[in-house]
Amino acid sequence: FDSLFDAAKELAGTESDAKVPVELLRYLCDSYQQIVERHTGKPFPQKPADQLRGAIEAVFRSWNGPRAIAYREREHIAHDLGTAVNVQAMVFGNRDDNSGTGVGFTRDPATGAKGAYGDFLVNAQGEDVVAGIRNTEPISELKKKFPKVHAELSKIFSRLETHYADMCDTEFTIEQGKLWMLQTRVGKRTGAAALKMAVDMVRPSDLGITRAEAVSRITEDHLDSVLHPQFAGSGYSVWAKGLGASPGAAVGRAVFTAEEAVEMSKGGPVILVRKETTPDDIHGMDVAKGILTAVGGKSSHAAVVARGMGRPCIVGAGSISIDERGQKFTVKSRVVKQGDWISIDGTTGAVYAGQVPTIEPDPHSGHFGKFMQWADEFRGTFGVRANADIPRDAKAARLFGAEGIGLCRTEHMFFAADRIPHMQAMILAREEKDRRKALQKLLPMQRKDFAGLFEAMDGFPVVIRTLDPPLHEFLPKREELMVDIARFPHLGGGGKKELAEKYNMKAGDLKKGLPELLKRVEELHEFNPMLGHRGCRLGITYPEITEMQARAIFEAAVQVAKKGKKVIPEVMIPLVGSEGELENQKAIVTRVAKEVLDKEKMNDLHYLVGTMIEIPRAALLADQIAQQAEFFSFGTNDLTQTTMGLSRDDYTKFSGEYQNLKIFKADPFQSIDQEGVGKLIETAIKLGRGVRNDLDIGICGEHGGDPSSVEYCYRVGMNYVSCSPYRVPIARLAAAQAAIAGADKSESMRTA
Ligand code: PEP
Ligand code: MG
Repeated sequence: FDSLFDAAKELAGTESDAKVPVELLRYLCDSYQQIVERHTGKPFPQKPADQLRGAIEAVFRSWNGPRAIAYREREHIAHDLGTAVNVQAMVFGNRDDNSGTGVGFTRDPATGAKGAYGDFLVNAQGEDVVAGIRNTEPISELKKKFPKVHAELSKIFSRLETHYADMCDTEFTIEQGKLWMLQTRVGKRTGAAALKMAVDMVRPSDLGITRAEAVSRITEDHLDSVLHPQFAGSGYSVWAKGLGASPGAAVGRAVFTAEEAVEMSKGGPVILVRKETTPDDIHGMDVAKGILTAVGGKSSHAAVVARGMGRPCIVGAGSISIDERGQKFTVKSRVVKQGDWISIDGTTGAVYAGQVPTIEPDPHSGHFGKFMQWADEFRGTFGVRANADIPRDAKAARLFGAEGIGLCRTEHMFFAADRIPHMQAMILAREEKDRRKALQKLLPMQRKDFAGLFEAMDGFPVVIRTLDPPLHEFLPKREELMVDIARFPHLGGGGKKELAEKYNMKAGDLKKGLPELLKRVEELHEFNPMLGHRGCRLGITYPEITEMQARAIFEAAVQVAKKGKKVIPEVMIPLVGSEGELENQKAIVTRVAKEVLDKEKMNDLHYLVGTMIEIPRAALLADQIAQQAEFFSFGTNDLTQTTMGLSRDDYTKFSGEYQNLKIFKADPFQSIDQEGVGKLIETAIKLGRGVRNDLDIGICGEHGGDPSSVEYCYRVGMNYVSCSPYRVPIARLAAAQAAIAGADKSESMRTA
């Protein structure tokens, strides 16, 4: 249809649909009917009732189209909800120059500023505005061209806001000077705009909504987008410029189709570059870090969808010329091919070549702070902590409002280049005394790390977990080592030097050292690395490891406490399945703690020893475990894999099929499996609190940052969730929303 219409416009020497003469339109109608007949095998129906029925059925059918399904999945809309069809009389915005069409928002959906916002086109139909094919005019221009319509539209906008108590988007048509409203709905908005509107609308002088309503309206995506990075510094040469349609900085490799975006995003960040986007691109937009289009205005499809997703987006970058089939675009004489790096700034509309460095956002600017303060009031005493292993992350976590560290995975401290040799020496040691020697080297490093965490978390608890992963994770890969051993005799001096560096050995030691290393790697190799010699089992068989870590923790605590800071260490033992295991490890921790604190005369330093609940047996026998444990933290990553018998590393291999077939309600490694894993969680809480009614209970698996899981944790009576620093505000919001939803329910129960 489109190529025929384009040909007709060319023939008529015009770029405007409205200027195509009647004879050509007649010809187009005939041709269109032939196309329909050719493709459907039936002539185009001539009775209006048949046409109407066909159109209605097409709308119903669209519910099951791939793009509608992708949209529902993204927005968490149930597939069995169904849709309605609205039939209304047609008005024509392309009747003449006294007609037009537009998309209008009652406030600016990008910034939240008050006042009408949108675009319109004279002598055009709605599709022309949304598709972004023609360059639109801002709604302010309407005042000059159609003053009466502008006044009427303004009145309608304020009426809509009062009625819906929210910002609305609308589509309207002007037919020969008369205004027709086609549709309205609560409008999509950027995160920054959502926060501003939520705060503004609470004012009685504005819409006077309640704070609870304001807090409930903000989504995970809204917060996510204001927490997005920005480009560091300035002075990078701008390559092309478009309209900043959705804020934030994005860096990625250029891709030119949605399918490629999905494929290439598996290997790293991508930017989807399109002439214009259509709803068919939604899956590509979803995986892209950013979106760049050559045509289109701020209410084009790309802009609206990207804003809703919180993805940085630039539209209407007219100076870039895109060859989608050739998988490249050109700006002046420069060519960007598929896979080349580009950087885009969705706030300013600037496009840069290569990878521009980004900086972290400042969440405390704008309306974020005030809004989060409201959210925290609803959340009450339910805590949000962060999973952080290094002082830098701990500081970021505090900035985002974390009230302590819920999990420090100490093993992450061992992977640094200056530490791994000592860690390997510790593992390779056959004798306890050699192991202790290597541990002695690690002690000051760990102490320094812990001191950094305690300082950053002054006044808040810091949960430090003793060593968890199987030791082979710290050693080279078995297969790689076998290849290097086979290669070794044939290498020249340079090659040997390289190998020596790789394995932290002297070149002269390689011949003997490599086979020895392989032997140890083979001994430690496990087919299922998650259920073997790891967690507390390491500390039980090598008590000196736990001892060193406990010493580092308490020496660091004393050091920081002496500086006048409040230090609250909580030592956590991983992968406990029986009371005996915890008793064994707790004895080591309390002995070392006593030694250190006695020596420093600091016995009033309060600390806890607790455990992760990440093995079904620990949950089932939580009353026994609670005899020893002073706190519980659900390790739902392991608890999910052990409960489901499904390895968290292997699920991704077939999770796509499972998702398509809807075998699970949601990915169990992202959202707690409430009916299965949840049963164990609820059992453990009940049994644990039966023994210690003040038992502090939290969660530190990845689920701690997932809004629906946070809501669950709140509901089942946990004390806190812990998640990655950037998700802390999202968890704070989710907890507030859970509190509000709970309050609503109890309110209705009281009034029933
Ligand atoms: C867990 O199992 O949920 C957990 C937090 O520990 P890790 O992911 O380190 O195994
Ligand atoms: Mg675990």
